[in-house]
Amino acid sequence: MSADQAKHRVVIIGSGFGGLFSAKEFKGRDDVEVTLIAKTTHHLFQPLLYQVATGILSQGEIAPPTRDILHRQKNARVLLGEVNEIDAETKTVKASMLNQQIDVPYDSLIVAAGAGQSYFGNDHFAEFAPGMKSIDDALELRGRIFGAFEIAELTASRGEPIGDLLTFVVVGAGPTGVEMAGQIAELSRRVLKKDFTHIQSEKARVVLVDAAPQVLPPFGEKLGAKAQKALEQAGVEVVLGAMVTHVDEFGIEMKFKDGQTQRIGSIAKIWAAGVQASELGKTLSEQTGAELDRAGRIAVNADLTLPGHPEIFVVGDMISLDHLPGVAQVAIQGGKHAAKTIKARLKDKPEPGNFKYFDKGSMATISRFNAVLSMGSFKLSGVLAWFGWLVVHLAYMTGFRNRLTATLHWMMSFIGKDRSERTTTMQQIFAREALERVPGGMAALIDDPAEVAAQVEARRKELEEHAAEESRLADSRSAS
Ligand SMILES: Cc1cc2nc3c(=O)[nH]c(=O)nc-3n(C[C@H](O)[C@H](O)[C@H](O)COP(=O)(O)OP(=O)(O)OC[C@H]3O[C@@H](n4cnc5c(N)ncnc54)[C@H](O)[C@@H]3O)c2cc1C
Repeated sequence: MSADQAKHRVVIIGSGFGGLFSAKEFKGRDDVEVTLIAKTTHHLFQPLLYQVATGILSQGEIAPPTRDILHRQKNARVLLGEVNEIDAETKTVKASMLNQQIDVPYDSLIVAAGAGQSYFGNDHFAEFAPGMKSIDDALELRGRIFGAFEIAELTASRGEPIGDLLTFVVVGAGPTGVEMAGQIAELSRRVLKKDFTHIQSEKARVVLVDAAPQVLPPFGEKLGAKAQKALEQAGVEVVLGAMVTHVDEFGIEMKFKDGQTQRIGSIAKIWAAGVQASELGKTLSEQTGAELDRAGRIAVNADLTLPGHPEIFVVGDMISLDHLPGVAQVAIQGGKHAAKTIKARLKDKPEPGNFKYFDKGSMATISRFNAVLSMGSFKLSGVLAWFGWLVVHLAYMTGFRNRLTATLHWMMSFIGKDRSERTTTMQQIFAREALERVPGGMAALIDDPAEVAAQVEARRKELEEHAAEESRLADSRSAS
């Protein structure tokens, strides 16, 4: 057995908060070999996606390459791959990427595959109201938001009414929805005000819709009311107690508790409501008997392992345990807890035991210099909360360079009126829909490596035969 095979193989699925922080926890351990597999090459700082969508930050600033973050950690390797199967019996993770398959055996497994957007059974809404979970989503939304102003300008330049072209609807009044709505209002009223000739960007209508009776429900009634007031002052219309029942290319339909319905015409719609845990929860549930809740989260033991499988840990947005929220700190602390448990086992030391979550509070920005902060019974709103938000987000951003450039971008955007990241392309807006229309999806556009090898072999034979024929003709010419 080689020295490497004697090492304990830890496989981590996901390069988000749970995956990355668990991988880092193994730094310096010579007895461990870490393989981190994720379907993206970057570590995504999701809380700042809305700033990419509204032109404040670039995607690189919130999504540094995982390989780069871990390159000094000698016991860690990073693989690009979408895990489609976990075999708990043979202790193997099966992943694929661009038609390449890979099987990765493990001794301990940490599953941190996060959650995607949930449309509550109406997945077709996604075509007209993209969610905000990935860099692709943020760039598509950036294209749709800035594109709406361009189309309105074009329409107005032909002397035609712009109708609903400048009506933006954000569905979901949680932190993401509040931040998005606040930023679109700020864009239209502050940033783009002098950029157009035929439209008045500040007349854009920004509507925030939620079925709940208040904005930011987890922050409590008082902060929710303050946030709503601040949003309305910033120019956002807040519609509460309204369930979105239909979304199409030209608008949304809502139903109120009293049965009344209302339609809002809108080209640019953003879905910021609901999450659905990774599908990997399902395969783990089938094999271990652990239950799934309605959002697809898997019920884990108190130490974050699965029933009958102390070698499998699940952390972050995928778990259902003691009503823990789907926030970055739950994933970070869970990832660290899983790694510490594995390290303790390897040294035959007492394990940390049950996972204890330390709630560091939550915050959401409403507009520049205005945020809300909730930390247990301590609540804060306004400019102080905003500076608190700034400090916390800088602290958790990865990489000194990203912190530096983000600070510069924030100064330019919040003190000045500049948004330097306004580049959008048609591909960013339409690629997702185009890919969804391809039967078999993206994989169908990529050649099978076996087929490519066969084509190369056939071409090689053809060239060899051609060369042999040339040489035969040359021989016969020189003989005559
Ligand atoms: C827009 C937005 C704003 C947010 N704002 C805040 C906030 O302000 N504060 C806060 O605390 N939390 C916030 N959150 C929540 C927070 O980002 C999540 O709770 C946190 O990211 C969860 O970490 P995780 O590791 O469980 O999953 P993620 O960070 O989502 O990481 C999942 C990883 O798994 C990978 N993956 C998924 N499926 C597979 C597969 N099949 N194979 C391989 N890899 C896979 C993904 O590529 C990714 O690398 C926000 C979330 C969003 C979407």
